[in-house]
Amino acid sequence: MSEASTATETKFCKECGKTIAKKAVICPHCGCQVEETKSAQPNIVINNSNQNSNQNNNVNGGVPYGARLKNKWVSFLLCLWLGYIGAHKFYEGKIGAGILYLFTGGLFGIGWFIDTLALLFKPNPYVVY
Ligand SMILES: [Zn+2]
Repeated sequence: MSEASTATETKFCKECGKTIAKKAVICPHCGCQVEETKSAQPNIVINNSNQNSNQNNNVNGGVPYGARLKNKWVSFLLCLWLGYIGAHKFYEGKIGAGILYLFTGGLFGIGWFIDTLALLFKPNPYVVY
């Protein structure tokens, strides 16, 4: 029986360099660990089923405190039809501006015109501060 017949069953120790059995985890010559003990470790199955449902139940839709979310098209149509009396300003809760529009005819039509255009380019819903 020559050593060549068992050559495939051996390996060299990483620490002392001697020939040791291939399946050896700890070198019998120096006692150093030469293999990771993978089979000895439990097979950890991480069954991480994330059931979190992150619902935003804020009445205000998560906008900053004091701000309000308004429907773009409600405001736009109010502005288009009744902008000269500041209807969209009252809808936005801007009572002061609404009264101003009411007595000046939508800032003499200028504010009415600008607000109608501005509302067109706002997201829906939009935030009123
Ligand atoms: Zn060794």
